[in-house]
Amino acid sequence: MKKEIIFATHNDHKVRELKEIINNTCEKCNIEILTLKDIQFDVKIPETKNTLEGNAIEKARFIKNHTGYDCFADDTGLEIEALNGEPGVYSARYAGEQASFEDNVRKVLKKLNGAKNRNARFRTVIAHSVESKDYLFEGEIEGVILETPRGDGGFGYDPIFRPKKHRKSFAEMPDKQKNKISHRYHATKQFALWLNEQAEKSK
Ligand code: IMP
Repeated sequence: MKKEIIFATHNDHKVRELKEIINNTCEKCNIEILTLKDIQFDVKIPETKNTLEGNAIEKARFIKNHTGYDCFADDTGLEIEALNGEPGVYSARYAGEQASFEDNVRKVLKKLNGAKNRNARFRTVIAHSVESKDYLFEGEIEGVILETPRGDGGFGYDPIFRPKKHRKSFAEMPDKQKNKISHRYHATKQFALWLNEQAEKSK
């Protein structure tokens, strides 16, 4: 029988992205990923820490404690060199608590107006809470912040982020291409390899 684990997010885009990566990597894991929709859990998940690691653990533990399922959660930040790592852990609400993706993008472009150093990276941390332990997996991708938004795919800061060695912004790439190189891909791949290892050990 497959082991059910919950992905603690309300973001459908992420669920699609992550399921695709795990299903392609994790042939022997024998797990089924359930979403919060699948278990009809629609309580707001707290995110009160000031590091990606802290938030990922907080979210995974919250769902684990409320549902009893083993659970994983991710937290992602865009870290811009010239802004000393901002927006980082505050990426979702950089321009304010109710800020839209467009508001956040505008704020980044304004702060970087005229800046020569446009280096940035996306970093994702996944926390997996199993019984009383938390396991962390990390992935990142380096790139540059464009002068103006390009493309209408993806979400968040995708229109202004161009990965190094690529010509297209994340928002100009088809999902499949982004999913092969993204920060979330690298973190999820680590997680999937770990799940495979655990499955092998328990045989
Ligand atoms: P979260 O912690 O993964 O929800 O991400 C926090 C914020 O970072 C999101 O609200 C987005 O603005 C941004 N973000 C996360 N992942 C991506 C991505 O793959 N592309 C662009 N922006 C992202």
